[in-house]
Amino acid sequence: MTRARWTSGEASDRDEFNLTRVFFFAALHLGVLAVFWQTTWMAIGMAVMLHVICGGLGVCVGYHRLLTHRSFKCPKIVEYAFALAGSLSMQGGALEWVALHRKHHQHSDKDGDPHNAAEGFWWSHMLWVLHTPTNENWRAIRRRYTPDLEKQLFYRVLEHTHYLGSILLAVGLYFLGGWPFVVWGVCVRLVATYHITWFVNSASHMWGYKNFESDDLATNCWWVALLSYGEGWHNNHHAFPTSARHGMWGWPGIFMSPHPRR
Ligand SMILES: [Zn+2]
Ligand SMILES: [Zn+2]
Repeated sequence: MTRARWTSGEASDRDEFNLTRVFFFAALHLGVLAVFWQTTWMAIGMAVMLHVICGGLGVCVGYHRLLTHRSFKCPKIVEYAFALAGSLSMQGGALEWVALHRKHHQHSDKDGDPHNAAEGFWWSHMLWVLHTPTNENWRAIRRRYTPDLEKQLFYRVLEHTHYLGSILLAVGLYFLGGWPFVVWGVCVRLVATYHITWFVNSASHMWGYKNFESDDLATNCWWVALLSYGEGWHNNHHAFPTSARHGMWGWPGIFMSPHPRR
C-alpha cells in the first residue's frame, strides 16, 4: 500500500494507528467463530431483523441518505430514530460518520478522502478505519463538514454515548435468548454490517461499471448493491449524491432497485 501525500490542505483524518479499534474488530471477528457452538434459527432470524433495522434503516437510510446527503425530508423525531438505529451498528456517532462521508464525497479517491480507493483495496476496505485523527483534527473536520449537526444537542450527546445503546442491546439479547442471541445479534450482525459498508468503499470503487463519467473511481457493483440495500450503485450515487434512490430505474423506493447498464 502506498500512502498518498497529504495535499488537500485540510486536517488529516489518519494521524494515529488506533490499537483499541484493532482489538475491538479482532474480538468481534473471533466472536463470529462461536457460531459453530451457538446457533439457533431464532438467533439467525433476530440477527437478520436487527441488520435490517440498524444497518438498512440506521446506516443506509439514516446516516447516509438522510443525514449526510439530506436526500429526503422527515419529522425530527423520525430523523433521531434513524440516527439511534444507525448508532447501534457501532460505526460511531452520526457526527463522525457523516463528517467522514462528506469528506469522502468532497475528495473522492484523491488526497483528503479518508478511504481513498486509489491507495488500494485494503486501505479503502478496512485499514482506513483503524487510523484516527488527533482530537484537534477531529474538531477541525467536524467544524468543516458537520456544522448543521453540531448545532443539535442530540447529535453532540450521541457522539459521546452511542456505545451505551449497543451495550444495553447486548445485555437485552442475552436475557432474551442467551449466548446464541449475543453471538448472532452482536458479533455476526456487526461484522456483516461492517464488511458490507466497507465493500461500498472498496469494491464499489474498483469493480463494476460506470453509467456516468466522473473523475473518481466509483462504480456500479451489482453484488454490493444486493448486499447493501442499493448502496452499491455507487457510480450513480457519486453522480447524484442527493438522490435517495441509488438505482435509477425499476422499483420505486430507496432500497434495492434493478439497474441496467446503459
Ligand atoms: Zn464512494
Ligand atoms: Zn454518499
